[in-house]
Amino acid sequence: MTSPIDRLFETLPWGPAPESAKDALRWLDAHGRRFGLFIGGRWVKGSGGETLATQNPATKEPLATVVQAGAADVAAAVAAARKAQKAWAALPDHARARHLYALARTVQRNARLLAVLESLDNGKPIRETRDIDVPLVARHFYYHAGWAQLRTAEFPDHGPVGVVAQIVPWNFPLLMMAWKVAPALAAGNTVVLKPAEYTPLSALCFAELAQEAGLPPGVLNVVTGDGRTGAHLVEHPDVDKIAFTGSTEVGRIIRTTTAGTGKKLTLELGGKSPFIVFEDADLDGVVEGVVDAIWFNQGQVCCAGSRLLVQESIAERLHAKVRERMEKFRVGPPLDKAVDMGAIVAPAQLERIRGLVAQGVAEGSTVWQPSWACPTEGWFYPPTLFTDVAPAATIAQVEIFGPVLVSLTFRTPAEAVELANNTPYGLAASVWSENINLALDVAPKLKAGVVWINATNLFDAAAGFGGYRESGFGREGGREGMYEYLRPAWERAAKDAKVAAPTARRKAARAAAARPAVDRTPKLFIGGKQRRPDGGYSRKVVAPDGSLLAEVGEGNRKDIRDAVEAAHSAAGWGRGSGHARAQILYYVGENLTARAAEFAARIDAMTGVGRKAAAAEVEASVARLFTYAAWADKWDGAVHQVPIRGVTLAMHEPVGVLGIAAPETAPLLGFLSLVAPAIALGNTVVAVPSSAHPLAATDLYSVLETSDLPAGVVNIVTGDRGALARVLAEHFDVDGVWFFGAAGDRAAVKAVEEASAGNLKRTWTSLVPRDWTDVKQGEGREFLRRATEVKNIWIPYGE
Ligand code: NAD
Repeated sequence: MTSPIDRLFETLPWGPAPESAKDALRWLDAHGRRFGLFIGGRWVKGSGGETLATQNPATKEPLATVVQAGAADVAAAVAAARKAQKAWAALPDHARARHLYALARTVQRNARLLAVLESLDNGKPIRETRDIDVPLVARHFYYHAGWAQLRTAEFPDHGPVGVVAQIVPWNFPLLMMAWKVAPALAAGNTVVLKPAEYTPLSALCFAELAQEAGLPPGVLNVVTGDGRTGAHLVEHPDVDKIAFTGSTEVGRIIRTTTAGTGKKLTLELGGKSPFIVFEDADLDGVVEGVVDAIWFNQGQVCCAGSRLLVQESIAERLHAKVRERMEKFRVGPPLDKAVDMGAIVAPAQLERIRGLVAQGVAEGSTVWQPSWACPTEGWFYPPTLFTDVAPAATIAQVEIFGPVLVSLTFRTPAEAVELANNTPYGLAASVWSENINLALDVAPKLKAGVVWINATNLFDAAAGFGGYRESGFGREGGREGMYEYLRPAWERAAKDAKVAAPTARRKAARAAAARPAVDRTPKLFIGGKQRRPDGGYSRKVVAPDGSLLAEVGEGNRKDIRDAVEAAHSAAGWGRGSGHARAQILYYVGENLTARAAEFAARIDAMTGVGRKAAAAEVEASVARLFTYAAWADKWDGAVHQVPIRGVTLAMHEPVGVLGIAAPETAPLLGFLSLVAPAIALGNTVVAVPSSAHPLAATDLYSVLETSDLPAGVVNIVTGDRGALARVLAEHFDVDGVWFFGAAGDRAAVKAVEEASAGNLKRTWTSLVPRDWTDVKQGEGREFLRRATEVKNIWIPYGE
């Protein structure tokens, strides 16, 4: 006869283990369940009277009412942030560090309140808010207390950006807030934060706690409301930077609205991340990995491993194991500590998930869901597995943002990489194999900002997080995340300074006398060959006195297309060693030195700066080539100090194909100051030289040809910089565009930034003229950072 205890061991039943909501509800009640806006250190009423209700997704019960902030409310919040900014930035680093430390301690002291509030408002399990969200929030403030302390020492010659608008989504309300607020404050900025309309409560609670912890009024302001409030914030002229996390669709809108305004921008957007399983993987480990990848936070995770790519030989076995696990899965009240998955945030999201699942079925994929039913009192959705999915199927391409896993198969590692990268996104990836050689070979080939090996959804403040491609740009966390909230000190000074009038006219007569005869019409330089422009037109290059120096090709859309194709076919350049690239850059420098006098004469003839200044420009150009030859094998990544047993490698990878519009002035030095760092770090380039003074660049063709530079690494298309840069920005196979102009180029910069929204390519634009001969402005780490993406590869180890 079996005893009751034996029977318990056989059946392993468990009952509910509810967490109390008492304290969180008491906090809501203390506010009468109605919240104003948190501006300038106090609660203020909204000006318009419109409100929003938030509900508990697990019960559909109303929780509280918040303000739908209008333009006047947003303006008041921005004004409060502006008023507080100077004093906040002027605090000694140590004082700001103490404030951030106080915020970290506050989060820890109120950990349970925040965790429960987050679960109530969002529907996510208390197990996750308590053990993941809130500890990561505290960790983020601790880590950035450190950067605040080290700010001047580690980021010399940099200052805060100013007033920062931060807009976050509903899936990790508190964590996304911390990822934004902590670095912003550490760097000396003040903040206006807008939480998502479904989940405003934890941010409001945090703002109040921060105030109690002594944060000065106006340093952190919170405005609530939906997308309209977000749009007011984005459009406000006194905002210096926008940090946005949310959908790619809204990211595009924000990119377009901010085009040409000079506002700094970071976008953390959507994803469709691959979870790649090779046949030698530990399948039991994989199953638990799948659970964490796609059923963590009900699958409402930007970096969710939503595409299971599994090697054909083990697909059936793995699918069977996953189904077995799903059958035992527990979906239920989020405050029950024993549930795996809680509720979907809102009915609109639930409908979206249902709609996409129905479309998957209609398109012929096979759906599987467990036999049990979800609770009916809230917005619940069961874990779901799709098999027999074609790579082009809607469910394989579109971000579902729910607990829906889509499985595809592959045969070879090369096919796995191809499938993994078959998405416009590039946020994260996870690779499962017991063969570390294979995993480490695959990781760099994946277009993703984060790669986890035999793991998934690991986060830490020390390791930057952010995407490639249409998953956005910028990083949160790490040293790189701090740069998003800083700007070089010289920029502000230069903005106010008068640009010295060119001495061109004075020197014009002498330059005309020195100019070489009109002897030839330089063509374009594409794929290592000199090519006639497609349109058959040319443009005149004149000396300062108006006399004709030469004619150059007038590049058009077709020429840019050809140049981009050539740049892509030279992608092997990025896979070579830094040493190899350094050698070629030195060689270009050496060959340029041999023709220094000729280049100086050319520069003088075009610009009239005088022989001495022209010679100095050539000399500086050679030095710049040497600078980036030096950097080519020294722009190291890092091994981050994250709390796992293992290593997290931060690798610098080239952005890809860069379109570069060089400045009008300093026709050789400006051109090389941009092209050299780009190619030193493995990018290939389509460069548009100065429109007025292009001959320094066209003279470079023969230097490049004799310097062993592989064909297609540098392509040069002469013509109208503004028009050609726009074509580059519109091109879907260009990964980044740099445009260096002056005050008169505002319209061109706007056009470039607007056009870049198409595939969300990275842009680096400048309307503040640089002194290219000043090494602080003309070279260095800023250029290296812009020329690379950071990929963090997490490698836990141990038997
Ligand atoms: P969403 O883009 O609809 O909303 C995000 C935020 O933007 C909300 O606060 C919303 O009110 C605001 N907003 C909406 N329209 C706006 C506009 N025109 N101007 C300014 N603000 C506007 O996204 P969501 O549905 O709340 O969140 C889900 C998305 O967020 C998913 O695509 C997910 O992948 C992404 N996400 C990305 C990351 C990341 O780090 N990359 C992290 C979490 C979520």
